[in-house]
Amino acid sequence: MIQPGSKSLRKIAVVGRGTAGSLAAASVTRLHPDSDHELHHIYDSRIPVIGVGEGSWPSLVQELQKLTDLPHETVQRRLNGTRKYGVAFEGWGRRNRDFTHYFTPQQVSYAYHLSADVMADLLHESTRARHIDAKVLDIARVEGGALVECEGRAPERYDLVFDARGFPRELHPDRHIDISFIPTNTAVIRRCPAIIEEENDGPVLQHTYTRAVARPHGWIFVIPLTVHTSYGYIFNRDVSSLAEIESDFDAFLEADGVSEFEQRAVIPFPNFVSRRIFDGAVARIGNAAAFMEPLEATAIVSAQLQIGMILHIRLNRSAEHLERDAPVVNRFLINNMLSYGLFVGWHYSCGSRYDSGFWRYAREQAWPEHRRAAAPEAVGCAALRKFDEMIELLNRTVIDKADWNRMCAVPLTSYAQMSQGLGC
Ligand SMILES: Cc1cc2nc3c(=O)[nH]c(=O)nc-3n(C[C@H](O)[C@H](O)[C@H](O)COP(=O)(O)OP(=O)(O)OC[C@H]3O[C@@H](n4cnc5c(N)ncnc54)[C@H](O)[C@@H]3O)c2cc1C
Repeated sequence: MIQPGSKSLRKIAVVGRGTAGSLAAASVTRLHPDSDHELHHIYDSRIPVIGVGEGSWPSLVQELQKLTDLPHETVQRRLNGTRKYGVAFEGWGRRNRDFTHYFTPQQVSYAYHLSADVMADLLHESTRARHIDAKVLDIARVEGGALVECEGRAPERYDLVFDARGFPRELHPDRHIDISFIPTNTAVIRRCPAIIEEENDGPVLQHTYTRAVARPHGWIFVIPLTVHTSYGYIFNRDVSSLAEIESDFDAFLEADGVSEFEQRAVIPFPNFVSRRIFDGAVARIGNAAAFMEPLEATAIVSAQLQIGMILHIRLNRSAEHLERDAPVVNRFLINNMLSYGLFVGWHYSCGSRYDSGFWRYAREQAWPEHRRAAAPEAVGCAALRKFDEMIELLNRTVIDKADWNRMCAVPLTSYAQMSQGLGC
């Protein structure tokens, strides 16, 4: 197939070697139709990757098979992976019962629980790029492309730059949509012994689920890999102290029968969506583009969508359309990220089995802010209207068949399962 945009996409840079940058570099290698394109993968080996991100959505299973050209079984084993069929919620909502949010079709569609660091290694094997270990000081838009300025090197011009440098240093209302209607902002990560046994001659076939367990100060994720089990306590550092978290984390592990753990990290994070994800020449991807806490593991799937959409538009549309295409793609991506944010924030709206300071804050102060934060005039897209339409559909006595496949970032089946489980 002739791809009219490929002529104006000769030289590409990917900045960052975390999950997002590694996915982008492998995707350029795979999708660019001309083998003589130039790809520079630039990263500063002194700046660590975030290194968490162990849950995913089913589209990653297909994507990794295509990018690596390896059988699914090999990919899963290389990732130390298990098959994730959904998220098992414990103690969430007003019904006081546990429930599962399955991928659709239920018990058929699965994603991976994976080791984030080895996924980047796997992707590098499928990437053809010149590797440059340098600190990027600036990425600036210039006529028809972007200029990347690295420490100790002459600035270099590219037709397209993927900026995958991770979280912005600070949020600014002109550049970022603050979605702190999601009430958490910090994670404590612990690593515990594996609870899933690796098979000798093939991938682990057992169905596994990410556990999302409500706790007085937030919630705890439990992700089973073949090499270890990852635990993370997600909370709000302005509402609860680190000492309170550590003590409740200890109590949880003890009740779960886990006697040893390795303390990994305390990670503060912002909840935001960038107002400019794509301007035609610079594409922010991964944690540089948007972030929300990991309750529904939306980060890797967001990076996949950003990279896929941007490469599709740049390769398949000729350069003369770019000025018109870029704002449309940008709005589409903002809309999608914000919709994920609304879906995740909504999980807190019915509280949990705990009537604690954190859960009162989440329900009564943080979530009600979503209407102001996502108001169309403040964000320039229709995410809030689409989200409201999904909730309105759930409240109908009969959902018309024509509406069954409706989506607002995630399918109607996901909204329906969460609504039933949470009681809202
Ligand atoms: C607690 C927690 C749990 C999570 N769980 C999940 C999950 O279950 N599922 C999921 O999908 N996601 C999850 N995530 C999100 C996860 O962080 C992202 O999916 C993923 O790590 C993407 O990160 P990134 O590649 O954008 O950035 P990073 O991993 O931060 O990588 C940034 C890269 O940019 C480079 N860099 C930075 N600055 C410069 C510079 N100036 N010059 C050159 N190079 C530079 C760094 O060296 C690094 O290579 C979680 C996040 C947190 C905080």
